[in-house]
Amino acid sequence: MDYPSVLEHIHAAIQPELERGQVATYIPELAGVPPRQFGMAVVTLAGEVHAVGDACVPFSIQSISKLFALVLALQAEGDALWERVGREPSGTPFNSLVQLEAECGRPRNPFINAGALVVTDILCSRHAVPEHVVTGLLRRLSGNPEVTWNPRVARSERMHADRNAAMAHFMKSFGNLRNPVDKVLDVYCHQCAIEMHCVDLARSMLFLANRGVNPLNGERVLTASLSKRLSALMLTCGTYDAAGDFAFRVGLPAKSGVGGGIVAVIPDTCGICVWSPRLDEAGNSHAGSLALEMFTTLTGRSIF
Ligand code: GLN
Repeated sequence: MDYPSVLEHIHAAIQPELERGQVATYIPELAGVPPRQFGMAVVTLAGEVHAVGDACVPFSIQSISKLFALVLALQAEGDALWERVGREPSGTPFNSLVQLEAECGRPRNPFINAGALVVTDILCSRHAVPEHVVTGLLRRLSGNPEVTWNPRVARSERMHADRNAAMAHFMKSFGNLRNPVDKVLDVYCHQCAIEMHCVDLARSMLFLANRGVNPLNGERVLTASLSKRLSALMLTCGTYDAAGDFAFRVGLPAKSGVGGGIVAVIPDTCGICVWSPRLDEAGNSHAGSLALEMFTTLTGRSIF
């Protein structure tokens, strides 16, 4: 596959789209990110790196961190996790509270904020400093020992976390949060504030493209079965209430974040990351989604 020319083609074709969509502003630190940026990286199972544009500019990974927190919770709890979090698409925005009451404080899936807060609560029950465990996993997967969070972004989100706090308190009232709400929110805001670039994130996805084993160092991250399940959750829930349209257009398991990043995998082939800060209405990168759609169209590769 001629990845370099595919990426060059996408980079040129995407330019007019970089004007469309809005940067996330509800986390004030994210509102200041220069919006006209675009990067994309593909890392093959053999470790070959192909990248274009701003693929080495670090950005706030935000909800992409939910994927790696979930890996740690699955490693620790396995299927017991599903007693506390569902695995159905929500069909509602990522920060919605509406389903929580009818479903007795059990969030629909681990990728909406409510579900991610329960996952973080699980990590809080097991680790003294869970945010270090999340960065530790990302350092091993990316091979970059410098991966860390941006303290300004963490503080900025923490000071504006009323909606996530409401969800956390509500779930606690149903007994589905075991640690103090403030502690869970602190850890959650730190994990969301981790900064990485496209190349490191694409590399960090390789274990999912390789049935749970990081091909670069042989580390088994998840069993083959859990790796399949995690990919299925990404396909059905990874891009929130746009997951159906995303599967229709792109056809890959993916996870997005409001920093404008989207990670994806092609099983047995490669990890992919695309980044562009302006978001569509569902909170997914507008240019990033289009770039992934172009990628699967041009290469003829998807899971279907
Ligand atoms: N930190 C963000 C929040 O909790 C993450 C949301 C996202 O990336 N979709 O609102």
